[in-house]
Amino acid sequence: MFLKLPKTLEPFQLARKPQVIQGVMTLSELERLSPQLCDSDGQVQVTLDFGTDLEGQAYVKGAVSANLSLICQRCMQPMDYPVESQFSLGVVKDADAIEKLSSQYEPLLVREDGTVETAELIEEELLLSLPIVPKHKECI
Ligand SMILES: [Zn+2]
Repeated sequence: MFLKLPKTLEPFQLARKPQVIQGVMTLSELERLSPQLCDSDGQVQVTLDFGTDLEGQAYVKGAVSANLSLICQRCMQPMDYPVESQFSLGVVKDADAIEKLSSQYEPLLVREDGTVETAELIEEELLLSLPIVPKHKECI
């Protein structure tokens, strides 16, 4: 079964040894996303695959999947919106490293102590998958 994900991750540490972390977060933990939802009772399922590529770049490849309930901006009624998103992030510690990052990765900037907030990582990916203005098909 899916376990609850830890609150913070240490991507460089995790990437030293190839490993996959699977888990869930509740939507209500996602502070930027949840105001856009009619119902934040659901969960997001997350798979995070850590490793280091041939160039020595630490990466996190992953997928998020959730059934979101957005608010249709026309009729203001709930609108089911399934999200399946995959991503490929290069773990970096500063702006220099972002510049040098291969274009196959989006940067994942860790904090000074080497950690990232799990919720922020997940939330970023979900927000990127949302429509700019949610509307039912029949409401367009
Ligand atoms: Zn509508």
